[in-house]
Formats: sequence, structure tokens, C-alpha cells
Amino acid sequence: MIRGDSSVTTAAVVEYYAEASDLISADLGGPMHFGYWRDLPEGSTIPDASRRMTELMVEKVGVTKGQRVLDVGCGRGQPAVQLAEATGAEVVGIDISPRHVRLAGDLARAASRDDQVRFEVADVTELPYPPESFDGAWMLESFFHMPDQTAALRQIARVLRPGGKLVIANLVLRTPLTDEQNARLASLWKVGQIAALVPLSGYPGVLAESGLYTDEVLDISEHSIGPTFAAIRELHAARRRAEAAESNASVDLKEDMDAGMDLFSATPAIGFAIIVASKPTA
Ligand code: SAH
Repeated sequence: MIRGDSSVTTAAVVEYYAEASDLISADLGGPMHFGYWRDLPEGSTIPDASRRMTELMVEKVGVTKGQRVLDVGCGRGQPAVQLAEATGAEVVGIDISPRHVRLAGDLARAASRDDQVRFEVADVTELPYPPESFDGAWMLESFFHMPDQTAALRQIARVLRPGGKLVIANLVLRTPLTDEQNARLASLWKVGQIAALVPLSGYPGVLAESGLYTDEVLDISEHSIGPTFAAIRELHAARRRAEAAESNASVDLKEDMDAGMDLFSATPAIGFAIIVASKPTA
């Protein structure tokens, strides 16, 4: 069972980020993904937890110096730069948002990694790369935006070399939703531009359809969603207190996003997981 908002298209996602990107990025300290808070010391911040999430992805993708990794939905580039710094691998980041690609390029230059990391505008369903040209790939919170998830996975499987790993960090359904529950969540699918969610147990099947083998499915909901939202709520409260809630996003969007966060928190059926897959060697 796959749920989501049927009006999500790549054009709608680009338009959404044109308004929401600065707001999300400011809340999350740069990158645009949940933190991984497991065993973090007291007083840790959203950026600390965010780097930990990327560290977990780095560990799972398992590449070494000189290898090449594809970052699908690279956003503003922080995870790709962190991956390059941590491993010495070469990273190619792609995104449908030209603005994100530009910001990501600026970041790589500022970090003096532009010889090792490059960013390009591309849609995952039309990857402009030859077969078997990457040693690893990841999608860090981009998969749920994709209306055609099978086409996305097939393309990634095509450009991965045999034995290469694909790591996905994504929202998942932990338990099935009734039609009534799904209807109640329509506003959430819309505010998050969520095209589809694969149930936790559905990943091996969906990946197999694209020729990928599932190595691991790791439900990290309790270490990601709850603590990240709690930290964002604290941040918003502090900002409101200081009356410094300055941003170029409209008040409507901010309110919709806060309401989405509340609805999200009240729905334990939506979780967060890391899925590790690999392309078979024979
Ligand atoms: N991985 C980044 C960004 C997450 S936001 C981070 O963790 O910071 C999701 C990103 O996926 C957005 O930048 C969005 O433009 C991109 N995206 C969504 N659909 C895509 C598609 N079909 N092809 C490539 N990128 C896509």
C-alpha cells in the first residue's frame, strides 16, 4: 500500500522549495532532514543530530577514497560535502531545484571541496550517467517526494555498479492506514509534498522490482522524528518570545508547517527508517 498526495509533481516540488527551503533549512540548521538523536549527550543541538544522521548514512553506504557516490535529491549540499570529507570519495549530487544546486555548489566551494563534489540539475527518473558508473548512492529524505518511485529506483539501480549500495533515509508507514486515517492526513501529505510512502515491510518487494536486494531495514522513528520536532518547537517558542520570527516565507506557510508537525506527531503510524539495499553482483 502506497499513500500520498496525487497532485505532487516534480514542478510542484520545485515550487514548494522555492518558498519553504529557507524556512526548513533555518529550522534544521542548514541541511533539510531529521536528526538522529540516539545516545547524543544532553544539550546536543539540531545541527549535531543532523550531522549524526548523515554519519549513519556514510557508515551504511560504505565507500572509500576514490570511489564515486550519487546523492539523489542533494538539497543545499551539506550531506554531500560531509560524505566527501568523511570518506575521500567523489560525490555527484543531483537535484531538480536549480536554486538548491546553486547553493550546494557555493557550499562545496566554501568548504574547498569543489574538486571532489559537484552538483547538477537532474531528475532522478532521467539520470544523465552511464550504467554502473557509481560505487554507491543515497537518498536522504527525497524519496517521498517522487511520484514514480519505481522509475526512480530503476534509474539508480542502472547507474550503480554490481555490489554497490543504495541507502535510503525516508518517512515510512509503520502500520497500515485506514482510508479514513489517510483522508485525515491529506493536509500533511500536501504540506510536506509527500507523493508516496512505502510501508516498512514493503521495501524488500519494491526494491526487488528494480533489481535491488534489501540488506537492512532500520526503524529509527523514536530517535529521529520525536526529538527533532521537540527541538524545532523549542526553537519556534524561543523565536516567538524574542519576536524575531523573521523569514521570507509567508505566515500561512509557517502556520501550515506547524500544524503539519502537530498532525505528524499525533500519528505514530508514520515513522522514519533507513533502508540499505545493494545491487547483486551476478
Ligand atoms: N538530501 C538533502 C535535501 C532533502 S530535501 C538534505 O538532506 O539536506 C529533498 C530534496 O529532494 C529537495 O532538494 C528536492 O528538490 C529534491 N528532489 C525531490 N524530487 C526529486 C527528483 N525527482 N529528482 C531529484 N531531486 C529531487
